[in-house]
Amino acid sequence: METPHRIIAIDGPAASGKSTVARLLAKRLGFVYINTGAMYRAVTWLALRHGVDTSDAQAVSALLDSTPMEFDVAGGEGTIRMEGIDPTPHLNDPDVAAHVPAIAALPKVRELLVARQREYARHADLVMEGRDIGTVVFPETPFKAYIDASEEVRAKRRSDQGLRDDLAARDKKDSTRAAAPLKVAEGAQVIDSTCLTAEGVVEEVMRRLGL
Ligand code: C5P
Repeated sequence: METPHRIIAIDGPAASGKSTVARLLAKRLGFVYINTGAMYRAVTWLALRHGVDTSDAQAVSALLDSTPMEFDVAGGEGTIRMEGIDPTPHLNDPDVAAHVPAIAALPKVRELLVARQREYARHADLVMEGRDIGTVVFPETPFKAYIDASEEVRAKRRSDQGLRDDLAARDKKDSTRAAAPLKVAEGAQVIDSTCLTAEGVVEEVMRRLGL
């Protein structure tokens, strides 16, 4: 997709620190910050709320077709409303984390959310983070980073946040699914954040991407 706006694509596994880094980077550059994981989590929250089986493609599709969803921007960040409700307080719930890879593996869900993600680029410069931003959503952007960290450090970052989340299981599902699996995008700068602070990663991303 051709866009007059600059897009910084940040991908990586769960708890690699990419949300913190992407938000800081967006602030620093005055770009809009979009967390696409929150969009997949919001759909998961919706399905669980309606008692819909998260691996039932048809049932999830029917639910999406009948649900008003708004993806906007406020205060420099993406906002979400599903059926008029802001699902943010629920997005880190353990059952949402456990079910989100199933939802994210459904092609219909990805098609719908990728279209919304591309829509953001019509209006603003973006720092967008997720799993497939550099490979699928904006493969033509010259600004791509893949942020990784050791499994130990990622697990510690999650437990320091007080969150229960089976990272290894989630990463395995996200990397092995057929639709838009997590992988390093062509041309992405791979940055290991294991021994770096969030500010240190921001500096490194800016240096490596020439920003
Ligand atoms: O980034 P976060 O851990 O919040 O993402 C939650 C889940 O959403 C991931 O484990 C993955 O299943 C899905 N996801 C995705 N593609 C993206 C962003 C997130 O499949 N671009």
